[in-house]
Amino acid sequence: MVWPAARVPREQSDKPLPGFKLAYPMLSADGTATGFSGVTLGRAHVYRAIDDAICVHGSRHSCPSRWCDCGFYCFSDAGAARDLACEPDYRGAVLLEVAVSGRYRRYERGLRYSRQRVRTVELGRCECGRSASVLSDSGTGSLGWRKLLPICSTCVGDRPVLTADGFGRLSGGTITVTAAPTAAGPVAPLPGLAGTESLVGAESPGAVAVLGAELALLQARLDEVQQRLDDLTRTRESDEQEG
Ligand SMILES: [Zn+2]
Ligand SMILES: [Zn+2]
Repeated sequence: MVWPAARVPREQSDKPLPGFKLAYPMLSADGTATGFSGVTLGRAHVYRAIDDAICVHGSRHSCPSRWCDCGFYCFSDAGAARDLACEPDYRGAVLLEVAVSGRYRRYERGLRYSRQRVRTVELGRCECGRSASVLSDSGTGSLGWRKLLPICSTCVGDRPVLTADGFGRLSGGTITVTAAPTAAGPVAPLPGLAGTESLVGAESPGAVAVLGAELALLQARLDEVQQRLDDLTRTRESDEQEG
């Protein structure tokens, strides 16, 4: 039997439902608050850790409306969100675990709904493929908000960062921010390059000792060259005096 559209009941949840989604982490212009911007619909709108959906098309109706595609969206399982994160358009997005409440509608892969609380933020990967551990300024944003970029401790260099804990605090202290699970998969740095990597970070005392020894050797060679130059100069001067 097909129900007439007007009689299909709107769903409402008394207790929060779990969901997963991608979002871009944002920092307010004055640096005192954090938020998130959507990766598809409503990219220009920034929502807070606990927030109500608004119609991104500017209508006054409450979300989610049957006649509009606005509202918060989430996947029912984290795997679908992780799959989406592989697409180039979503690099730099973080994975949110949310608690959905209020009115909602189901769609093929999850829910579209009116109220959301962000429970955890997983930072995902740095552009280099390592697990990101901090957030830096991406250089882009929207009015009043800077977009942050998850980055790893190797690539971060000396640029200013917001730590995972710092992001959690500025979000109101209700969010847990974690690094992505360490990539224990088939993609790993070449063993032969491990030394080079630790030299960059100056983390390995052994590598620093080798570098120190090479510098000492270079210095010794320079001293030797200087000595020979001095000898040559002296010989030439005495030749000139004798000639
Ligand atoms: Zn709408
Ligand atoms: Zn990196």
